[in-house]
Formats: sequence, C-alpha cells, structure tokens
Amino acid sequence: MARHRVVLIPGDGIGPEVTAAVQRVLAAVGAPIEWVDHVAGLAAIARGRDALPSETLDAIRAHEVALKGPCTTPIGEGFVSINVRLRKELDLYAAVRPVRNLDGVPTRYRDVDLVIIRENTEGLYSGIEATLAPGVVTTTKVATEKACSRIARWAFRYARQRGRKKVTVFHKANIMKLTDGMFIRCARAVHEAEFAEMGYQEMIIDAGCMALVQDPARFDLLLLENLYGDVLSDLSAGLVGGLGVVPGANIGDRAAVFEAVHGSAPDIAGRDLANPLALLMSAAMLLNHLAETRRDEACAVAAQRIKDGYNHALAEGCKTRDLGGTLGTRQFADAVVARLS
Ligand code: NAD
Repeated sequence: MARHRVVLIPGDGIGPEVTAAVQRVLAAVGAPIEWVDHVAGLAAIARGRDALPSETLDAIRAHEVALKGPCTTPIGEGFVSINVRLRKELDLYAAVRPVRNLDGVPTRYRDVDLVIIRENTEGLYSGIEATLAPGVVTTTKVATEKACSRIARWAFRYARQRGRKKVTVFHKANIMKLTDGMFIRCARAVHEAEFAEMGYQEMIIDAGCMALVQDPARFDLLLLENLYGDVLSDLSAGLVGGLGVVPGANIGDRAAVFEAVHGSAPDIAGRDLANPLALLMSAAMLLNHLAETRRDEACAVAAQRIKDGYNHALAEGCKTRDLGGTLGTRQFADAVVARLS
C-alpha cells in the first residue's frame, strides 16, 4: 500500500503526549502514513535552533501535509507566535474548525453542528506593532481585498461541497469601517456573484456572540476574520465540551497543517492528563484530506474507523478528566484502539 509522508511536529507542553497518543491510534488502524519528524517552538529553541526552523517549513512544503501539536508563545514579550508565523509563511489562509456535539459528552446545548472558517493570515495578527511615544503603542489591523475575497470564496465553496445551508459573517464594521467593512463587502460580493443560492447573513459580533450562546443550533457556518475566528473557536469549543473535543486544519493552496484548537496547556503538561481527542479528530480530518486530494480510499476508511473508535469509546463512558472521566491520555488512546473495527 502506498504510504503518504506527513510531517509530524510534536509541539510543546501537552503536545508530545497527545501526538504520541494519536500516532498510536493511527498505527493501530494501519493508516497509510509515514511520519517525517520535525520540531518547532520551544523544542526547537532547546536545540539551539530558530523557533520555526527552515527545515521544518521546507519539509511541509515538500510533503504538503503536517500534523502539529500546540506550540507555546510567550505572553506580552518574547518571540513571535510560531503558529502565526507558520500560517503566514506557508500561506495557510483558511482555518477550519468543526464544532459538534459528541455522543457521551453531555453539554447544556444539543444539536450543535457548526463550522468556523477563520481568515488566518492578516487582521490584527499582522505583527505590525509600534511604540509611537512613551506609553503609546499600536497594533495595525490589516485587511486586503485579495485575502478577504479569497477566504469568502473558500468558505462558500466549502459550504456548498458539504451541503451547508447558511454562511454567517460576524464583524464590527460599524466601528472598523475600513477593515471589517472590507471583509463584509468582499463576502457579500462573492455571495451575490457566485453563491447566491446559499443563505447569507451578517451580524455585528457582540450581538452575534449573544445569539451564539443562546442558541448555537441556529448557526451553520461562521466566517470570521483572524482575531474573531480565534476567540470564537474557543468560545464554541465551550458549547460542546471544551478544548479537548475541537479539531482544526490550516489550509492553503499548496499545503495543509492539521492541529487541535487548544494550546500547549502548561498547567497539565507532562502529567498524562491531556485529552488527545481533539488532535485525534484533527488526524481524521488529515486522513480525509489525503483521501480527497490524493484519491486514496484507504485514508477515508482509516478516518472512518478512527471516528467509529472514539465515538464508541465516548459512548461507553471512556473519557479523560476534562470531560468528567478518569482516563489518562494513554488510557484514552488504548480505549479507542480497543474499539477499532
Ligand atoms: P490552552 O488551550 O493551552 O489551555 C486552556 C485550558 O484548557 C487549560 O486549562 C488547559 O489545561 C485546558 N486544555 C487545553 N487543551 C486541553 C486538552 N487537550 N485536554 C485537557 N485540557 C486541555 O490555552 P492557554 O493556556 O491560553 O495557552 C497556553 C499556551 O498555548 C500559550 O503559550 C498559547 O500561546 C499557546 N497556544 C498555542 C496554540 C497552537 O499551537 N495552535 C493554540 C492556542 C494557544
């Protein structure tokens, strides 16, 4: 069977624990993957390297697909986020985060089935910051017509392919008339010209957040600029059980990096407490991506077996502590492996 070379970046904090658990499940299911190990983040710095070594970027360019654990970013000082750099360097402009209720993970909401599509390359994450005068600092929010139209087109196309019915844009164009104004004008234009059959709605983000936590089932696909997409991803994770159950992908025209929404969770790192499910779900997305882009049915079969395995495990009450269970990271992986068809 042909094997796909996939770059593996374990990341920091809980990253090595959850990536090891995911590798174990993928090996047990016989996923046709050959891992190509690379480092980024604190692990790279510890080896005396740049936080995002050029070999890591080159490997992703060469193999086109990566699975990445979370990378720690110093707060309020220190080096630029590896995650933001990686997305910009590889032009991974679309972040995709499916947010769904899972059987066996009771939450106060039912029937949540959202997809968050986040513009991943600009907005307030431009990295353009300056001290204008002592005590006066700025961060520049960037919006380009090219990136706004590109993400809108990508989101509508994704919605059409997946049978989604409505795209909702959250914005603050009443205040940020130029940048958020550009974002909604581009989304509107793409909708009218190319996807007029699709439901389309714009909401000011503050009212949108209230509506989302009151009744998340009324939303289908959310299209957001970078910062809003980041914040709404974690907020939405809270609707379905937390950061342990929301996967993600960063997709560009030439490469795709799959990673959970959660961070490196330093508070629980190294204690076998982390839930590996979000990264496992991201790995299932990766396999489906390979199935689609390389027309490899074996990847689709492996993805489905993994999903069935974790759904059975959850339904039978096998859960890590973040979901109210008692299992450690490794035990949860074992529970999934034991239930693979
Ligand atoms: P976090 O997502 O790491 O953790 C938030 C809370 O959720 C913590 O209480 C943590 O224990 C819990 N949690 C997260 N993932 C979990 C899992 N898989 N299982 C069980 N519990 C889990 O967010 P943070 O604490 O704000 O950030 C920590 C670091 O992660 C920061 O340096 C931040 O920059 C980085 N980060 C990286 C990424 C990424 O690599 N894509 C994403 C977000 C944050």
